[in-house]
Amino acid sequence: VTDREARRRSLRDIAARAGLSAVLVTHLPDVCYLCGFSGSNGALLVTRDGAVLATDGRYVQQAAAQAPDVELLVTRRLVPDLLVRAGADGVDVVGFDPDHLSVSAWRATSAGRPRLEPADMDLSGLRQVKDASEIAAVEQACRISTQALGVLLEQVRVGDTEVQIARQLELLMGLAGADDRAFETIVAAGENSAVPHHDPSSRPIRPGDLLKIDFGAKVGGYHADCTRTFIVGAQPEAWQWEIHDTVRRAQSAGIAALRPGIRGREVDAAARAVIVAAGYGSHFGHGLGHGVGLEIHEAPYLGESSANTVEAGTLLTVEPGVYLPGRGGVRIEDTLLVTDDAVRALTDFPRALARIG
Ligand code: ZN
Ligand code: ZN
Repeated sequence: VTDREARRRSLRDIAARAGLSAVLVTHLPDVCYLCGFSGSNGALLVTRDGAVLATDGRYVQQAAAQAPDVELLVTRRLVPDLLVRAGADGVDVVGFDPDHLSVSAWRATSAGRPRLEPADMDLSGLRQVKDASEIAAVEQACRISTQALGVLLEQVRVGDTEVQIARQLELLMGLAGADDRAFETIVAAGENSAVPHHDPSSRPIRPGDLLKIDFGAKVGGYHADCTRTFIVGAQPEAWQWEIHDTVRRAQSAGIAALRPGIRGREVDAAARAVIVAAGYGSHFGHGLGHGVGLEIHEAPYLGESSANTVEAGTLLTVEPGVYLPGRGGVRIEDTLLVTDDAVRALTDFPRALARIG
């Protein structure tokens, strides 16, 4: 509770610097961060000396339990009624995050008093530095993820389909204590492993396939994100070994570059240089990584054009890949914690090209 009040105080400081005495928060991960409510319909009004959570009748009990220290407003017209409430408190202008309110919702309310005004509130920046309880939740999600992967590898057999392997891994995470999967599990075999975000299919795994598994558990609203690539039932061919070794060295270079104060694009460049030098630059078509927390993808982003900065207390992924269309691909991804003097992989699981099945 006191954590959350401290977070709302930080938001009030940001708002005050923008000349605002009240702000409307509509992005659900931000609402959860600021008051604890995790339902699927809610908005939060933060004023100089209080906070009001609006939600509908389905969530009254959940809101009261999760967010006991904010005032509750039960309505189906979340934004209009929060504005009425702000007006009653004498507020003239309410700031909102333009990344997270539709133009139509804005228009529907912009005629009245108080006025809604887009504001640069940079809530993603507010959430980037994690506190101890947030780090503990991600650590637990990561521990459950790698534990489940270890059990899965003992069970996987040649002939299992991508879908079967994905559902089995999700079941193992649930049995190990996950609340849910963090995102739709990617299991991609053979030529499918060359598709960065392949949907698992009925394709069975066969000897000689690269098998790419990108997965994670969710605990207390917090996400884990991990990718490993294996070789099924055979010795790897030279090209498979080579792209795996390249990705592994690229990941090491990216992790070695991480420290407080470095730009996202500099971390990306450190890893990308390894892949370019190996001649696979055109086969690494996505950014190097992303922050992880209440959202699976959040600030800071590590990409070629990223202006984000890594800070102490940041949780993020480093996930280079090389994808050869029609043949196969490799990605290696870890969730990492950056502190003042170290970088620690929370998804600590062997990265070598292991033979399975
Ligand atoms: Zn991932
Ligand atoms: Zn990721």
